[in-house]
Amino acid sequence: MNYLLELWAALKYFLFPPRCPNCREIVEERYQLCAACEEKILRVDFYDRKLAPLDKVLRVTKYRDGSRDLLRKLKFDNNLNVLPPMKKILDDVSERKEILQILSGVDFAVPVPLHQERFKERGFNQTEKIFGDWLAKKNLPLRNFLIRTQPTPKLYKLGKAEREKILNGVFAAAEKINLRGKNILIVDDIFTTGTTCRECAKVLKSLGAEKIFVMAFAADFNDNFS
Ligand SMILES: [Zn+2]
Repeated sequence: MNYLLELWAALKYFLFPPRCPNCREIVEERYQLCAACEEKILRVDFYDRKLAPLDKVLRVTKYRDGSRDLLRKLKFDNNLNVLPPMKKILDDVSERKEILQILSGVDFAVPVPLHQERFKERGFNQTEKIFGDWLAKKNLPLRNFLIRTQPTPKLYKLGKAEREKILNGVFAAAEKINLRGKNILIVDDIFTTGTTCRECAKVLKSLGAEKIFVMAFAADFNDNFS
């Protein structure tokens, strides 16, 4: 019996070898990134400058080739096979002191919301998909306290001033809620100029929130902060 199972496993491996979810290169285990893709991902480079009204911003990876490929596959190709390696990247940084420090003082996490049209089109909020399991392991509730009141164009080609104009007043509280004295972690997939998270933070602060931290799966801080 064992022999048959082993034979089947070998045959399956031969016929359907596990492939890197990013580039389809053959790898050893399912959902594993190949060495080349893995190498491209520049991990955990903490940035702790204050960017009011945000108290601290953490990025898990640099928004470069590697993590950019994964995010594009997830968001634009709806390829959920890239989620396991993304979650592994989060697990790998789980015990970093910078992360533990922030999480210890946080009451809950809030994802940057999608507009409902975008949500319907994609079928999921990518930020919840990336961070959901990880936050659950950390016993940190993920709360949808914010909504996006209007659809906004894709922002990646726009500069900071245009983003600020477009995003001004776009986020609102999903319900009337008192957040007095609460410390909140905003989670987002990509952080570039910070405009989106700052707009979300404004709403959370107007509800009484005390400190707002950000954790982004990928971020590119270069030249964008002022
Ligand atoms: Zn690969």
